[in-house]
Amino acid sequence: MSKLEELKELQLQSQKVFDYFEEIAAIPHGSRNTKGISDYLVRFAKEHGLVCYQDEANNVVIVQEATAGYEGADAIIIQGHMDMVCEKENGCDIDFEKDGLRLYVDGDFIKAEGTTLGGDDGIAVAYALAIMDSPQIAHPRLEVVITVDEEIGMLGAEAIDLSMLKGHKLLNIDSDVEGHFLTSCAGGMTVETVIPVEHITQEGLTAKLTVTGLVGGHSGSEIDKEHANANIVMGRVLKYISDRMELGVTALAGGLKDNAIPRECTAELLIPEEKKEEFVSYIKSVETELKKEFAASDAGICLASAFGGKKQAEILSYSAMARVIFYLRNVPNGVQHMSQIMPGLVETSLNLGILELKGDGLYATSSVRSSVSTRKEDLKDRLEHIAEFLGGEISVSGDYPAWEYRADSEIRDTISAVYEELFDEKPVFEAIHAGLECGILSGKIKDLDCVSFGPNNYDIHTPKERLSISSTEKVWKLLVEFLKRSK
Ligand SMILES: [Zn+2]
Repeated sequence: MSKLEELKELQLQSQKVFDYFEEIAAIPHGSRNTKGISDYLVRFAKEHGLVCYQDEANNVVIVQEATAGYEGADAIIIQGHMDMVCEKENGCDIDFEKDGLRLYVDGDFIKAEGTTLGGDDGIAVAYALAIMDSPQIAHPRLEVVITVDEEIGMLGAEAIDLSMLKGHKLLNIDSDVEGHFLTSCAGGMTVETVIPVEHITQEGLTAKLTVTGLVGGHSGSEIDKEHANANIVMGRVLKYISDRMELGVTALAGGLKDNAIPRECTAELLIPEEKKEEFVSYIKSVETELKKEFAASDAGICLASAFGGKKQAEILSYSAMARVIFYLRNVPNGVQHMSQIMPGLVETSLNLGILELKGDGLYATSSVRSSVSTRKEDLKDRLEHIAEFLGGEISVSGDYPAWEYRADSEIRDTISAVYEELFDEKPVFEAIHAGLECGILSGKIKDLDCVSFGPNNYDIHTPKERLSISSTEKVWKLLVEFLKRSK
């Protein structure tokens, strides 16, 4: 018997949504593993006699014509992503490549045993299928767009061809706080800087210097928390040391992802043997300073040194080291501008997420975000200027536009008004300093009018993810009523 069987006793109007959610959960659908779920969607379309498009990336578009009386109404695009983040607890034996999830009901929540639930964003898929499978629901022409690999850089939205769509009103069901309607999001790009370096051979005492204990966080939604960036901190400490003694840098590496604030950075150094004591006590005093400075944001910040033997090693030449330190001391990082329209919203920021000294150069990757496209370009220009000044260059990847706030948005006004009327709760409008597929899609659909919302889903991207049953029911009623009024 299905573990969601007990839901039936609740006699929910959204029962079909949960039925489809359960079917989806049975098909492995982590990012980059979307063929199965994509084919399932195509089968659904065929079984229901619907026009369907599937591309090489596994993106799927399904079209359902308007019900009687709605033929003249504007088409509504319903959009979400089919891939999920696969995280599990230690000891959980699920193989995300081939096993389905083990769903169960816990009070008002649907959860998955030991794993992420995939409510982000399986719930969008389940809503769309349940609507298309409910002949009694009145609606205009529906264009259901289900993308792949949103969670690993919105690759599906980037690749999809939407020239077959007639609609320009879009419901993105990929937000996780019910009653909060997202109205805009930042655009972004990844900028990799390479500063060429040369080496010389020198003898000295080998030392390893580490910056650890930082909190880190998401480079978009948490950039305003002023958490220390391990790469930037390392640059500062190297400058201080080089002011006091002869310093050789043999290796430097920090951070793992461009979109995560780096929590650790390691440098391998060469120092004069007789300076060891001074080095140790100086590092201690700098650590004390840093602990004070970051007491509120990164109380655990730790600066540590360890020593090897005396040896000959390849170190950065004097001028290469000067360039590397200049770069780390002067590259823009963190919040650059706060929005003057939306109080509290970060408008422009960047994060030096990955740093690595390789044989031929210092490689530094920054994730740049802004809700103002010219500010994003301006920041790229500054990064390029610094790189070129230091004899290097930049390369840009994953450039996507912002989803800009529309002063008048019919779809936002209508759905929020329906929400307030149905539930007597004031809708909240928010902008976010992170990416949503709406940004990329607004570059592909002319004059796109779009809103993002969804039912309460907590602790997404973790094995604690849990979807509220009552909230899913409310958002279902909202969708049905919204479609009914879209005449
Ligand atoms: Zn999502």
